[in-house]
Amino acid sequence: MTTQSQQIRNAFTVDVEDYFQVSAFAPYIDHESWDSITPRVERNTHRILELLADKQVQGTFFTLGWIAERFPGLVRDIVAHGHELASHGWSHTKVTNQTAAEFGADVSRTKSLLEDLSGTPVHGYRAASYSINTSNLWALDVLAETGHLYSSSIYPIRHDHYGMPGAPRFPYRYNGTGILEVPITTVAFRGRNWPMGGGGYFRMFPYGLTKWGMQRVNQREGRPCVFYTHPWEIDPEQPRPSGLGAKTRFRHYLNLHKTEGRLKQLLNDFSWDRMDRVFLD
Ligand SMILES: [Zn+2]
Repeated sequence: MTTQSQQIRNAFTVDVEDYFQVSAFAPYIDHESWDSITPRVERNTHRILELLADKQVQGTFFTLGWIAERFPGLVRDIVAHGHELASHGWSHTKVTNQTAAEFGADVSRTKSLLEDLSGTPVHGYRAASYSINTSNLWALDVLAETGHLYSSSIYPIRHDHYGMPGAPRFPYRYNGTGILEVPITTVAFRGRNWPMGGGGYFRMFPYGLTKWGMQRVNQREGRPCVFYTHPWEIDPEQPRPSGLGAKTRFRHYLNLHKTEGRLKQLLNDFSWDRMDRVFLD
């Protein structure tokens, strides 16, 4: 590791949702049944809090309103550890499935609850499954109108479920003066943007590739990276609902047992901080 990349602070982020709430499971497990499933998010999020505390890292936790309402103590624990509390919307509904009015009500309700529970202002928002793209950029105006200061909702890659491949790779103000959009990290290589910021890609690629990609962004481009993970990604023992399609199974369960070890390496190999401190200060 060179000193230069040690000096660049990257943003460590966690999307706080349970294993059965991911968008790929939506066709199999509907919202109405969520309350009947034994939750694992509290335990798994506490494990991530421990990992971060061990490395003295503070990050940003994009939390579902649905989770916050049921686990207010978890929200307070996140804040007590010095992390930034941010919004992941109420119930993981993709923005592409919402009208502007529904979206506005969703993000306002989530922000209010998170602020009431934590006693801290909520500045950040991340869309379920990075579901802001060319079809619904109005959502960025709604976020500004409802008092958010930044969004981390557009992934500048090509993917079958999300992405906006032509979008900028680094933070920018929407329409020049609007809300700050902070994209997940990609590496520009051979004419394409390659996802290098976490989630399923972090589990699929060898750790060395993620490290190479992030170093390239830190050192060659002099830019901070944005990395994301989920509490369920460090939980190989999670129940496996029946009937999932092959692609969904592959993506969700791949290398879950390796995530925790890789996260420890990642926390050691780079400098980390909260989204607001990396991008708003
Ligand atoms: Zn999510």
